[in-house]
Amino acid sequence: MGNDATSALASSLRGRLILPTDADYDTARAVYNGMIDKRPALIARCANVADIIRCVNFARDENMLLAIRGGGHNGPGLGTCDGGLVIDLQKMKSVRVDPAQKTVRVEPGCTSGDVDHATHAFGLAVPSGIVASTGIAGLTLGGGTGYLTRKHGLTIDNLLEADVVLADGTMVTASATSNPDLFWALRGGGGNFGVVTSFLFQAHPVSEVFAGPIFWDAADALRVMRAFRDFIGTAPEELGIFVGLKTVPPMDPFPQPHWGKRACAIIGAFNGTAAQGTRAMEPLLSQLPPPLFNWMGPMPFPAINSLFDPFFPKGLQWYWKGDYVTSLPDEAIKIHIAQSGSPASDFCLMHLYPINGAVHRVAKDATAWQARDASFNMVIAAIDPDPKNAEKLKAWGRAYWKAVHPFNQGGAYVNFMMDDEVEGRLEATYGDNYARLAAIKAKYDPKNLFRVNQNIKPVAAAEARPAAPRPGAHTDVRPQA
Ligand SMILES: Cc1cc2nc3c(=O)[nH]c(=O)nc-3n(C[C@H](O)[C@H](O)[C@H](O)COP(=O)(O)OP(=O)(O)OC[C@H]3O[C@@H](n4cnc5c(N)ncnc54)[C@H](O)[C@@H]3O)c2cc1C
Repeated sequence: MGNDATSALASSLRGRLILPTDADYDTARAVYNGMIDKRPALIARCANVADIIRCVNFARDENMLLAIRGGGHNGPGLGTCDGGLVIDLQKMKSVRVDPAQKTVRVEPGCTSGDVDHATHAFGLAVPSGIVASTGIAGLTLGGGTGYLTRKHGLTIDNLLEADVVLADGTMVTASATSNPDLFWALRGGGGNFGVVTSFLFQAHPVSEVFAGPIFWDAADALRVMRAFRDFIGTAPEELGIFVGLKTVPPMDPFPQPHWGKRACAIIGAFNGTAAQGTRAMEPLLSQLPPPLFNWMGPMPFPAINSLFDPFFPKGLQWYWKGDYVTSLPDEAIKIHIAQSGSPASDFCLMHLYPINGAVHRVAKDATAWQARDASFNMVIAAIDPDPKNAEKLKAWGRAYWKAVHPFNQGGAYVNFMMDDEVEGRLEATYGDNYARLAAIKAKYDPKNLFRVNQNIKPVAAAEARPAAPRPGAHTDVRPQA
């Protein structure tokens, strides 16, 4: 790539091309996870679809590595790359709500908070994640779980249509009736197939919810986790709620006597009135000891969906491990409690997000995301502000995961993976859907231009064979760069 080509690219964009020599290059290249330190050659802050098409054509013709950045929240930093071109979508933030159809048209630079903000004004919400600063694009393409998932499904289960710029620079619409194979693959297959320039979602009536966290001392964790496991499969689906092991943050508004205590937390939102929410929680709470504090109460939906944001600002060190979980025997719960009892940092946490209700009502082969028979989506997140603790975080996360993984499925949510999983992990994640994904990849991106992601290698349909999952496969043999 010569200077002339770069200048021509810069002058052809309505957005801005940021180079390593620019004063704000370091700010522009920084992603959410402070553990990631990648140095792209070019960052294109695209202003519109024409800019995106220009960048895709440029990267392909110049044989440059190409990364796509939505919210920049990805654990292993798959929204950026070393030495390549980053299509940075953060300026493309329009959200258009159609209140009559209850649909929402979203540009790919939006965070889930941007979408919540826009839809809340109409008394609507799209099921997405629990941290407002997460990019809607990467979250959606990996699946998307949050407080509305039990009732309304994953984010992909509410995706009606997506516009996609393909590797050859053309743009297509993917939906149930237009390029249905691509639409199938986008729903869980990540950024493998092209740059999504617009999402059309189904929204649902959601306004005030009965929501918040309840924390118990870690000494009660076995009782809480057991009770939660037995309760959540049959609880009303309006109740979107998960269980976690974490530390009471040592700061206001948390009660000072509990600062720094290891705890078991249940955090959730009931889409309904306080009276209905209280009734829904009663069968669970009535069998549990008194909590350290119970802050469930009425609040606007965007408030619960941004509850975590102040505690997890951009730039912390993050190391993630995940698994899909079929069942949660007492033995596994005890291992969770033992492992999380000596965390690498007070920021470290484990969450178990329920997979049931509406998610189970979709067939395993209806979308690329196939863990429809799982009961939980587990994430272990090792987190700390200090870069010097990076190795300690990785070691803790890996040891924890290794201890609980034998109880879990072979695959995991792609959005809870780092880039150090062993070969076979993606095949286990997609199961019988993997071969179909590889064939669709071969159709839409045969040369693997879009490979900065949890990468599905293109394999022509005739060669593709369903991959055998590797149950119990352990990872982490390769050191992180
Ligand atoms: C604090 C925190 C909380 C989270 N909470 C949740 C949660 O509640 N629920 C949940 O489901 N997940 C959650 N996640 C995981 C989240 O879904 C992933 O980190 C996801 O990758 C974030 O998407 P992004 O657009 O911000 O990421 P980016 O880093 O920008 O991109 C991630 C991947 O998506 C691809 N991509 C991004 N935009 C596009 C596009 N327009 N077209 C094609 N490919 C694209 C990129 O190529 C990359 O491979 C959370 C993550 C964090 C850090």
